[in-house]
Amino acid sequence: MAREVNALLGRFFAERRKTGRIDLESFELAVRTAVYQTGAAVLSDLLCYDAPLPEQRTRPCPCGQTAIYRELRSRTLLTAVGKVQLTRPWYLCSYCHQGQFPADREWDVENTELSPGVRRMLALVGQAAPFDHGREQMKLLAGLEVTTKTVERTAEALGADIGAQEQQRIQKAMQLYLPVIVGEPIPIFYIQMDGTGIPVTQAERRKGKVEGQPAHTREVKLGCIFTQTTWDAEGYALRDPDSTTYTGAIETATQFGQRLYAEAHHRGLNRAIQQVIMGDGAEWIWNLAGLHFPDAIQIVDLFHARQHLWDLARLLYPGDDAHQRKWILRHQPKLDQGQIEKLVRFLRSLRPSSAEVTEKILQQADYFEKNADRMRYPEFRRQHLFVGSANSPACSGPSAEPTPSSLCAAAISTVVPKPTGRIVAPPNFHFYVAHPGTKDTTAKSLARAVKTLMRRRLAVNSSKLMKTGLEIQDMGTK
Ligand SMILES: [Zn+2]
Repeated sequence: MAREVNALLGRFFAERRKTGRIDLESFELAVRTAVYQTGAAVLSDLLCYDAPLPEQRTRPCPCGQTAIYRELRSRTLLTAVGKVQLTRPWYLCSYCHQGQFPADREWDVENTELSPGVRRMLALVGQAAPFDHGREQMKLLAGLEVTTKTVERTAEALGADIGAQEQQRIQKAMQLYLPVIVGEPIPIFYIQMDGTGIPVTQAERRKGKVEGQPAHTREVKLGCIFTQTTWDAEGYALRDPDSTTYTGAIETATQFGQRLYAEAHHRGLNRAIQQVIMGDGAEWIWNLAGLHFPDAIQIVDLFHARQHLWDLARLLYPGDDAHQRKWILRHQPKLDQGQIEKLVRFLRSLRPSSAEVTEKILQQADYFEKNADRMRYPEFRRQHLFVGSANSPACSGPSAEPTPSSLCAAAISTVVPKPTGRIVAPPNFHFYVAHPGTKDTTAKSLARAVKTLMRRRLAVNSSKLMKTGLEIQDMGTK
């Protein structure tokens, strides 16, 4: 170690004498490499076993017979300080011909060439970006060479593990083997759901084609649970600090319903005094609500509903921003005041020139009519409930087009490098809801949630993740 560092120091000073400059970056990286090499030698020493003593040369074999020590065998492990040699005893059962390496189990490196430390790093980079970026990050940040495939395999294996654990929990919840969770009653218990298409690679597409969905996407369903105990001086709902957890998956509505129910139970559904379901008006959401949360108040997220009005404005005045805004100013109050029948009558009275536009307007009218009772916003506000997932009314005021919500922004920034790690296209989002901007902490925490979802691909439950530094009151709508 000392010798190597001395040699490096010699080079460092020689360069400074010669050029008068120091390239600190190349120097620091060279020092890291030297330190790693020393560390790898130390680890290799530690991981080099002696042959077992004569009285320790047999072990039970899983088949019931006895495995006998044959020899020391070596292999390479990639660790946090680079490649090291693991040399350990090998036992063979002459009855079933099954070999075993007890040391591998002890060090948690069975059937893998990656040390636990490296696996943790790969899990982190594998969830944060496309797998090939992960490879680059490993090289730069950790000085380790791995292949893109290694990043992918490690992240996917982890996701599969987590997915399997979650399935167990879901199955338990479905069979009603539910531990009763004791605690204080929860005054208001919110369950939010949404779905969105995420672009995926060819291999992923084949796994699940859904009718009516763009060919290059699959739908990811996201659920969010939070609670409310009180409201502010003006009567606006206040979210309980640190009360939000997320779950989600690429799966059918039926499977997702079970996942969400399990999460809700885990969060204390049985202690809820009032349940509220919030969604965008999609049929599957209310179906799941009726099935799993039949006593809940159903609310169409106001910002989803407003988005439908914006769709109409664009339809009626294509490319004419001024007219679109004017139209919204006139008609959004009906929605905000829960006068849905009036809004529906008005929409049906419109006589646009083209049959195609008429058709679309009537569809929107149907949407409002079908969800009318879920849009009684003044009534919900009287009960001090949240009515939407936006940040503040100032951000989504009547004349400004709603910009993507934090959920959406988070999804855009993180979902694009979709599950299989290659960017194929920008995502297609139907839920432009509110406007928290991109810098708010909610966007970040949601980004984390979505990233986790992507990492696990099949399963996410980021309650623990969410507990770290989540500021959620700003999610509340006023
Ligand atoms: Zn055996």
